[in-house]
Amino acid sequence: MRVRPPAVLAGLLLSATLAHAGTPAPTRIPEAALARAAALQQAALQDRTAWELLEGLTTEVGPRLAGSEADARAVAWTVARFRALGFDRVWTEPVTFPKWERRGESAQVLGPSPQPLHVTALGGSPGGTVEAEVVGFPTLEALQQAAPGSLAGKIAFVDYRMQRARDGKGYATGSRVRAAGPSAAIRAGAIGYLMRSAGTDSHRLPHTGMTRFEPGLVPVPAAALSAPDADQLARLLARGPVRVRMALDCGWDGTATSYNVIGEVRGRRLPQEMVLIGGHLDSWDLGTGAIDDGAGVAITAAAAHLIARLPPAQRPARSIRVVAFANEEQGLWGGRAYAEAHRAEVGRIQLGAESDFGAGRIYAFSAKVPAQAQAAVAQIAQALAPLGIALRREGESCGPDLGPVQAVGMACAALAQDGTDYFDLHHTPDDTLDKVDPAALAQNVAAYATFAYLAADADGGFGSAPKPAPAAAAK
Ligand code: ZN
Ligand code: ZN
Repeated sequence: MRVRPPAVLAGLLLSATLAHAGTPAPTRIPEAALARAAALQQAALQDRTAWELLEGLTTEVGPRLAGSEADARAVAWTVARFRALGFDRVWTEPVTFPKWERRGESAQVLGPSPQPLHVTALGGSPGGTVEAEVVGFPTLEALQQAAPGSLAGKIAFVDYRMQRARDGKGYATGSRVRAAGPSAAIRAGAIGYLMRSAGTDSHRLPHTGMTRFEPGLVPVPAAALSAPDADQLARLLARGPVRVRMALDCGWDGTATSYNVIGEVRGRRLPQEMVLIGGHLDSWDLGTGAIDDGAGVAITAAAAHLIARLPPAQRPARSIRVVAFANEEQGLWGGRAYAEAHRAEVGRIQLGAESDFGAGRIYAFSAKVPAQAQAAVAQIAQALAPLGIALRREGESCGPDLGPVQAVGMACAALAQDGTDYFDLHHTPDDTLDKVDPAALAQNVAAYATFAYLAADADGGFGSAPKPAPAAAAK
């Protein structure tokens, strides 16, 4: 039984030997590991495992809304595939959450220019039919400034156009319009909420995604319009008053239990320590969840599979753990359950990184680590350079599901994907397999395999250490 991670012990002993008490020994990656990772990277670029996983999941399971019958099939499918990938251990851990369902949705413009509008209910919206005059706002802030009661009996419409960016930064505002808009509308008296989709495409496909209602407010039907339908509604509003009927058949229905699916490749020397990678298994119901986030599960599982396939003597010192998280979409339920269940071992995680931004090529690598691990991060970056990946100094988020694990002390790495077209597809019926480029997918696998192998085989750690959970961390 160890009382503290051996890497820390080794570091302390080395520090004492070097008579630099108080200065942790620098983490280094051995030359032999760099050579093995280079070979692994080449093998990954030729490997089809990720594509076969993604093709299988999106074809045999299809859409997999958390808590649905398809979600249960996705869990069983993933357990079977993880076993077939040669992981040493495969297991599930339960995750329980409120269940939300979509059954149907429609909207029409009434009056002198009657016509249908393409809408989709926001996750968390109640069902119901509302028929009312629409009041338009250019931004969330404009709606938030509407006087209480000023929208009594009306439908609020926020016509905010999200900006395209390689790193997806426009989604910060776009998703806020979705998350906070309905509550702002209710406070001003509205009986319904419409928004231009948080997306960057011009297709007639609305984008769904979760919204929340602030405590104490009575929820109202809330939906997103496709971009062309938002344009149409804006043009009609410019001509005069517009009445819309919106009928949403959706809502909460008790609780459901799904599972985090976990696979582990045992390390050759320090199997209790690990690198943690993964993606989320659930998807929205409109597409087949290819880019969000079948790709993330496929990329990280394929990377671990390539490491599992190595001869035992060539395995990294530490284990590689892959998690296909349950119900990310409706509130990080799987990530929060994982952090809760595995808090005690957070100091034994070398680094964590999640793939949840599609299947575009990775262009940057960064890690939030203390000074003594920065040279090792530079070594990993150098090993990633042949893939066209640059080192970025500022540490970024290690992914939504790993956020709660980071919050209790895990050191974080980020492999940033090109998301220029991610929000053309995200949360729409267009999130399907044909949008994934197999060569870009293989580049992702090569990057994750290289990263995971080197972090797992480093002499020394990257700064993970248990932290008290932030008060009221649940969100
Ligand atoms: Zn996602
Ligand atoms: Zn998503």
